[in-house]
Amino acid sequence: MTTRPIAVVGASAAGITAAEALRRAGWTGPLTLIGDEPHLPYDRPPLSKQLLHGAWEPARLMLRTAEQLAPLDLDLRLGTRATGLDVATRTLTLDDGQRLACAGVIIATGVAARTLPAADGLTGVFTLRTLDDALALRDRLSGGPRRLVVVGNGVLGCEAAAVARELGHEVTLIGREPVPMAAAVGPGMGELLADEHRARGVRLLTGEVAAFEPAAAADRPVQVDGVRLVDGSRLPADLVLLAIGSEPAVGWLTDPALDTTDGLGCDAYCAAAPGIYAAGDVARWEHPVHGRPLRFEHRMNATEQAMAAARNLVAELTAEAVNGTAEAAGDGAEPPERRPFAPVPYFWSDQYGLKLQAYGLTTGADQVETTVLDRDARRAVALFGRAGRAVGVLACALPPRQLRSLRALVATPVLWEEARDRLREATTVG
Ligand SMILES: Cc1cc2nc3c(=O)[nH]c(=O)nc-3n(C[C@H](O)[C@H](O)[C@H](O)COP(=O)(O)OP(=O)(O)OC[C@H]3O[C@@H](n4cnc5c(N)ncnc54)[C@H](O)[C@@H]3O)c2cc1C
Repeated sequence: MTTRPIAVVGASAAGITAAEALRRAGWTGPLTLIGDEPHLPYDRPPLSKQLLHGAWEPARLMLRTAEQLAPLDLDLRLGTRATGLDVATRTLTLDDGQRLACAGVIIATGVAARTLPAADGLTGVFTLRTLDDALALRDRLSGGPRRLVVVGNGVLGCEAAAVARELGHEVTLIGREPVPMAAAVGPGMGELLADEHRARGVRLLTGEVAAFEPAAAADRPVQVDGVRLVDGSRLPADLVLLAIGSEPAVGWLTDPALDTTDGLGCDAYCAAAPGIYAAGDVARWEHPVHGRPLRFEHRMNATEQAMAAARNLVAELTAEAVNGTAEAAGDGAEPPERRPFAPVPYFWSDQYGLKLQAYGLTTGADQVETTVLDRDARRAVALFGRAGRAVGVLACALPPRQLRSLRALVATPVLWEEARDRLREATTVG
């Protein structure tokens, strides 16, 4: 048995799933899980929903308890950051100065929230990516009515705006795009959801931030007091949430053998280099069905891709062992085959009582058709196409019996007219 570990970098949804899948695939050697946050792996989607709302406490977000982790026999290093990776020798450098020569590495470092330098040094300006971020914002939302400006009208900004409004705060949602979430859900669905936000009392604005204005008080650090827009207008604010997208956490991967343009570039097997795989929000890989590199920041993808990457890494190490280039990967069990990772992407979003669910690709479409089934109930479906074929479908407030067939509809790109007919059929099922 090898004495070198497999290391998984990033101890969140993809990281913990990869660790478990490595064991299931037969890896009996040392297994190190490295995460720079101090917490056990936790789930992020509730951060902008139940946790921010106050309905759930942090314990409910934990993906595994310490007892559930025990059988994995992990060398768990929380509060530890990987600072470098030498690809040829598969050696990680950690922020405590340690060097870890590995049999294989799975990179699951996710993304980090984008910030604006103009907000540096001001209190009351938040991002929403980590548990600590969410708790800090929740704390400030719990002390009576506030004027909250959400900068960025994508999915995250809209979810947070909905929760803050439900909590009774005065909410302004500002984005560069006139229609909220248009990039993710298309203009028609975005308009429908904009109606819901307006009906709930959210003020929607199109514009760009020029500066954050501090309160007049001389206290340090200085509290934000307003947001100045490029057109000169001013939005008073007690709190600002920056929901302006994210950056893949690849800054530490400087080895030129790796392609780190828009995440870590991988092949169809989720391999970035021999013995080095990636999964989750950080991974951009060649999707074998769509025939182009894709990267998703979706919870379901983190789980599915981590399982695929782990299985493929064990298969590669087993093949290396058979060829005499490495120690045995498993305990003699039948080695898994390396398989291309070809999921049907899925994401959801919850805003007010509405559930949005999407299968396939909704971004990068050249054709979008939205059908409003019931305007008052905000019930609608949208079909997304590319080069004459339907590649994605999105539903809002659709009953489960109608939703069921939508995944199959876009499992592979299908001729637009055919998909449209099938969608119409699916949404008229009684
Ligand atoms: C507020 C919020 C709401 C969301 N809601 C939804 C939703 O409704 N539906 C949906 O489909 N998806 C949603 N998502 C997206 C979903 O949570 C992510 O797709 C998922 O968390 C990705 O998991 P991951 O493990 O790839 O990355 P992450 O969860 O980002 O985890 C990466 C981990 O690696 C750590 N790390 C980074 N660099 C290093 C390093 N150098 N060394 C060690 N550790 C490092 C990070 O600190 C982090 O802990 C939401 C995300 C957020 C933030």
